[in-house]
Amino acid sequence: MIKTSTQKLSIHGGAKSVEQFDKSLFHWPIVTDEDERAVIEVLRAGSMSYGDITKQFEREFAGWAGAKYALASCNGTASLLEAMFGVGLGRGDEMIVPSVTYWASALQAMSLGATPVFADIDADTLCIDPRDIERRITPRTKAVMVVHYCGHPCDMDSIVAICKKHRVKLIEDVSHAHGAMYNGRMVGTFGDVAAASLMSGKSLSVGEGGILWTNDRSIYERALAFGHYERTKGELTDPELKRIVAPDQFMSGLPLGAIKGRLNQTCAAMGRVQLKHYPSRMSKIQRAMNRFWDLLEGVPGIRAHRVDPKSNSTMGGWYNPLGHYLPEELNGLPVTKFIEALNAEGVATGRGANFPLHLHPVLNEADVYHDGKPTRIAFTERDVRQPKGSLPRSEALADRVFGVPWFKHDDAEAIEQFASAFRKVAMHAAAL
Ligand SMILES: *Cc1c(COP(=O)(O)O)cnc(C)c1O
Repeated sequence: MIKTSTQKLSIHGGAKSVEQFDKSLFHWPIVTDEDERAVIEVLRAGSMSYGDITKQFEREFAGWAGAKYALASCNGTASLLEAMFGVGLGRGDEMIVPSVTYWASALQAMSLGATPVFADIDADTLCIDPRDIERRITPRTKAVMVVHYCGHPCDMDSIVAICKKHRVKLIEDVSHAHGAMYNGRMVGTFGDVAAASLMSGKSLSVGEGGILWTNDRSIYERALAFGHYERTKGELTDPELKRIVAPDQFMSGLPLGAIKGRLNQTCAAMGRVQLKHYPSRMSKIQRAMNRFWDLLEGVPGIRAHRVDPKSNSTMGGWYNPLGHYLPEELNGLPVTKFIEALNAEGVATGRGANFPLHLHPVLNEADVYHDGKPTRIAFTERDVRQPKGSLPRSEALADRVFGVPWFKHDDAEAIEQFASAFRKVAMHAAAL
């Protein structure tokens, strides 16, 4: 346990809680000579645009993630688009997705002629609320996209059951939760297909890239046909798909999606090295983050956003870790004031929630394809737009969470300093 600080808040002229720490505590991704050698080898060989190393990366990723097939792409946005096309999302279809997520869990549906329908989140997990999914299913619902938000696994038992019952496809966006476990099983293996970003800020990073994985050969082949024209001739087994996208003539491969999804092999090479070290780096993060939150058990106004560390679920690499903020326990202190005081204590943190997508003009007004009406409703029979007030928990989230330090190493002394800053500010909230 840490001492309850009796000191004055730093914002009121007291001493800072966090004085000194090793900058490597937060540095990510961890890049060593091994990554450098792998990348330079690709550069010197001039093989940035070929596929051998990418395919090795895909095989290794599939082995780790527990899937039969993996397909790497130039970014997570492309992988998620391929996943949507892979499950057959198309004109007039609806896809249920949380409103609080990065836009690339949802927006691509519109480029397929489908539309996102937003569901509210669960107040504890901050992931899509299964009951709200079920309420929003209509005969037009083709797919559900879940996001394991900020590392927290979704309630997959309920969600899988709902999708089975209503025969809708289930896609997992694992961009926040690479390697997270739900009841002993890795997320990304519950749905029909999973996809994730591998960009530099994510917990598993290859530089800039994305990956899709599935056990369903036909989803894999549709994803391949959508954006990987140069691989279809060699890899497609579905004769009809192959006849269409890669007729047996010279240079005849064309992508169905008119996009080029190929991953730069410098990134694939770095990905192979990163993946090899990821399990051990991830477990260090898990120890560090759980240490931080254990120190703050019982502090008023703040609660961990995490799974029970004694359960067989985990938060993976704890991407963008958040805390729940309960202003009602702190005399109604707004989260912005709480954060200001933390910043003064030497904690470089901020607010943490994504802007709710259902309130964004792009989803309510933009007529992207000149249909004479907003693209969101251009292909649907009903107006699926969701006004302010329709998803109360998503809309309130920004005031009820804050960012916490994302420790990459289990440095007990430094973590105690950071935890003492949070404790001090919460204990002195009345003075703010
Ligand atoms: C980062 C992210 C993506 C998109 O990935 P890019 O690699 O940046 O294209 C998709 N979904 C979520 C939830 C993300 O956080």
